Amino acid sequence: MTHGIRPYWQNFIGGEWVDGGDGGRITVTDPATGQPIAEVARGTPADIDRAVASARACFNSRLLRDMRPHRRGDLMLAVARELDACVEEIALLECHDNGKTLAAGRAEVALTQRYLTYYAGLADKLEGRQIPLGDGYIDYTLHEPYGVSAQIVPWNGPLPVGARSIACAIITGNTVVLKSPEDSPLSLFVLAEACQRAGLPAGAVNIVCGYGHDAGAALAAHRDIDQIVFTGSVATGQSVLRAAVDRVVPCVMELGGKSGAIVYADADLDRTAASAVRGIFNHAGQICSAGSRLIVHRSIHDDLMAKVHKLAAQRSVGPGIEACDMGPLINARQLDRVEALCRVGVDEGATLLMGGARVPGMPGHFMAPTIFTNVRPDMRIAQEEFFGPVLVVLPFDTPEEAIAIANGTDYGLAAGVYTRDLKLAHWTADRLVAGQIYVNEWWAGGIETPFGGMKRSGYGREKGQEALLGYVQTKNVAIRL
Ligand code: NAD
Repeated sequence: MTHGIRPYWQNFIGGEWVDGGDGGRITVTDPATGQPIAEVARGTPADIDRAVASARACFNSRLLRDMRPHRRGDLMLAVARELDACVEEIALLECHDNGKTLAAGRAEVALTQRYLTYYAGLADKLEGRQIPLGDGYIDYTLHEPYGVSAQIVPWNGPLPVGARSIACAIITGNTVVLKSPEDSPLSLFVLAEACQRAGLPAGAVNIVCGYGHDAGAALAAHRDIDQIVFTGSVATGQSVLRAAVDRVVPCVMELGGKSGAIVYADADLDRTAASAVRGIFNHAGQICSAGSRLIVHRSIHDDLMAKVHKLAAQRSVGPGIEACDMGPLINARQLDRVEALCRVGVDEGATLLMGGARVPGMPGHFMAPTIFTNVRPDMRIAQEEFFGPVLVVLPFDTPEEAIAIANGTDYGLAAGVYTRDLKLAHWTADRLVAGQIYVNEWWAGGIETPFGGMKRSGYGREKGQEALLGYVQTKNVAIRL
């Protein structure tokens, strides 16, 4: 349609490119303009059936399982290499279907390649145990793949989120059916092409785009899947879990967050302000682990907020293709939702320091960077996930109060602490209920560090070596000699 983007993309099932079963298509639009940029085949429940059957046939063939593990790693290395030639194409796609800048799109490819190579290197390092049972016995454990891994991916970072789950599944000998997000499906099709060129067996990886309530629900409820990896909102995660419960299918659940950072009085305020602003305004706050609550000691509150306000006000808002600092929200529905929750914040009596509404006069779904101060923990804006560029700031007087505020939501994905006092940092990290704690830098960590939630933010871990344990089940073999 425009921008040098291929106008039509098919689904990848059983090693072949296919139209939607009933010929339907989904129009993908650019969130920065609201204009259509491409169409994709609309996967239906019948397409999900075909994809699961292909993944099952590939799994049952034992092609992947019987390979030397390092050969499965080689396959992932080959996919990573194939992506070298796709960096600019993917950057452009991420720019136009997801609202990222070209630089951010290129960074997503580099991150994806890191996931692929990291897990490739782990393919031959997942070892079992030998358990002593005394004379006359030998006992050992095996890590067995589950079988068909059903993966459902959100729109905000589909390529790295999809690639890390695919890599973990393949190197442990599973096969994959991945339901890509209907709002931003394009980069995952390029990954499917890379898998095909890299020589993955037909059916090892199947990528189907479709609507959540249709193809997504059909995949979660499918009778022939063996494991689910879901990344998305709590409400959708709950419906996926309800579908899984019937057949007792194990799930990895990566859900939402309302992550808070505590800023103690001795923190380096310049660095804290820069870190906090990045933590909430990167990708317009559409990151599950965004630092969306700042919990600030009253004695430094005004100084810190002056710095945060200044940095936030310097952020340019506009299309990623123009290298603006902050792009659009993904769609009109999400912009309406974020704006409406901001109105709730004003009604609840919080102080609107900046923003609070869409950017007027722009065709896309642009929300102004928004900061609320004087927020109380019981306010809706302190409890609900915006998934947008909205920071809520809550003051505190004692460390105990700060911990209570930080832990006082249904979520537990990430939390942070800013202080020069290492003892206080440890004390705080110990008491925060969240899957990852960032000390003095939001998003400190990497692909090597386990990532996942506590409480309603989910369970199971992606990233790091620990992620592999979500893709295997232990079999014990006890031998009477
Ligand atoms: P979403 O839950 O609406 O959609 C996620 C995926 O689920 C999409 O592919 C969608 O098509 C599919 N889906 C929708 N309804 C379904 C159904 N009934 N059955 C099966 N699948 C269905 O979430 P979103 O708006 O795409 O993403 C935003 C949410 O995801 C936020 O809450 C964010 O915090 C969370 N998220 C979490 C992580 C993490 O790692 N913890 C990462 C990214 C996003």
